[in-house]
Amino acid sequence: MNTNKDDTGNIIYLDHAATTFTDPKVLETMMPYFTENFGNPSSPYDMANVSKEAVDSARQQVATAINADTDEIYFTGGGTESDNWAIKGIAFANRKKGNHIITSSIEHHAVLHTCQWLEKQGFEVTYLPVDKYGQVRTEDVKKAIRDDTILISVMLANNEIGTIQPIPQIGRIAREKNIYFHTDAVQGIGQVPVDVEALNVDLLSLSSHKFYGPKGVGALYIKKGTRLDNHSHGGAQEKKKRAGTENVPGIVGMGAAIEQATSQLEEHAAHMKKLRAQLVEGLLLIPATHLAGHPEKRLPNNVNVIFEYIEGESILLMLNSYSIAASTGSACTSASLEPSHVLIACGFPHEVAHGSLRLTLGKENTEEDVDYLLQTLEPIIRRLRAMSPMTPKEQRE
Ligand code: PLP
Repeated sequence: MNTNKDDTGNIIYLDHAATTFTDPKVLETMMPYFTENFGNPSSPYDMANVSKEAVDSARQQVATAINADTDEIYFTGGGTESDNWAIKGIAFANRKKGNHIITSSIEHHAVLHTCQWLEKQGFEVTYLPVDKYGQVRTEDVKKAIRDDTILISVMLANNEIGTIQPIPQIGRIAREKNIYFHTDAVQGIGQVPVDVEALNVDLLSLSSHKFYGPKGVGALYIKKGTRLDNHSHGGAQEKKKRAGTENVPGIVGMGAAIEQATSQLEEHAAHMKKLRAQLVEGLLLIPATHLAGHPEKRLPNNVNVIFEYIEGESILLMLNSYSIAASTGSACTSASLEPSHVLIACGFPHEVAHGSLRLTLGKENTEEDVDYLLQTLEPIIRRLRAMSPMTPKEQRE
C-alpha cells in the first residue's frame, strides 16, 4: 500500500509535518476498543478492566519511548492541549514565586498564543530572538532569566523550518536556576531521539498524529514533583489532573504508534535524510532559492525553501493542480498575506519570506516522488516568476 497516493494513484503527499496517515498496524490495534472492548476504564467490572489495562499499557509504551516513568505520562487531546496545560498549569501554580516566563519567538502558536493570553492575565513574557538558522542562543536564555522567572518553554524542533534547539543546554541552565523547563517535542518523535533525562526537561508535549498515530490524542510528560495546576476538574481520570473519560482507542493507537516510531527511528531517519539530500540538491538548482533553517541541525524529514519574487500560496495552488500536497509559511488572512513569524524571526525580509515552500517527507515517500516534485516545481516557479511584477528582468524568461 502506498498511502501517499489516493485511489487514482496520483497524490504525492509531502506535508507530513501537518499530519501523517494512521499506520495500518496502529489502526488494527485500535479497532477492538471501538467495538467489543468499549468499556469505560473507570467502571468496576472485568470488561472495563480490559480498557483500563489497555490505557495502562499505552502509558507504559509512551513512557518507555521517552525514557520517563509511567506515572509521569498524562494523556491529553493533542499537542495544543499539552502545550496549553504545561504553560498555564505552571504559570498559575507558581504565581506566588514569580510572574515571568521565557519562550522563543519561533514557537508554534499553541505556545505563543498561550503566552500572549497569559500576558493579558498579568504575566510577563520574554520572547527570545533566534539566529539566522532559527536557533535560540543559550547566552540569550541566561540574559533573559530574572529572579521572578518561573518557566522557560523552548520547542525541541521547529515545525516550519525543522531547526533543532539546544534543549539539553537550555535545560541545564534552567535547572541551575531552579526554573521549570518545558519543551514542545511534537515534531521530534520518530525523527530524532527524545529522552527526557538527556534533555533535562520537566515537561514535554507530544501529539500522536505526527508519528502515524490517530488525531486528537497526545500526552504531557510531567516530571515527578513538578508543581502545576490541574488541567480540568471532574472525574478521577489521569490522577485527577485531567478529568474526562479517556479516548481509549486513541490512546491505544498512540501507544502503538510511538513504540513503532521509536523502534524504527534510525532506519526511518536514514531514509528521510537520503530523500532530503536529493530534494535540497534539486531545489537549490533553481535560481534565487534559499534554504531556510539550519543546514545540519534540522529534522531529517524537513525541507523549507524560499523562492524569491513569488508567493508560497500560489506555488501551493499550482502544486495542488499536479496532485502534490505541500505547505507554506504564509497564510492568507483577511485580504492581507501574513508571512511566517518563524521566517521573519530568522531575518528574512517580509517580501522574501512570502515565497516559502515547506516539504515534509514521510515513510512511504520514494525517490520517484522527489523526482516528480522537482520536475513539476521547476516550470511552476518559472511561470510564476514570469507573471510576478517583483521579478527582475534577468530572472524572467
Ligand atoms: N506544536 C507543534 C510544534 C506542532 O507542529 C503542532 C501541530 O502542528 C502542535 C504543537 C499542535 O499539535 P496538535 O495538532 O496535536 O494540537
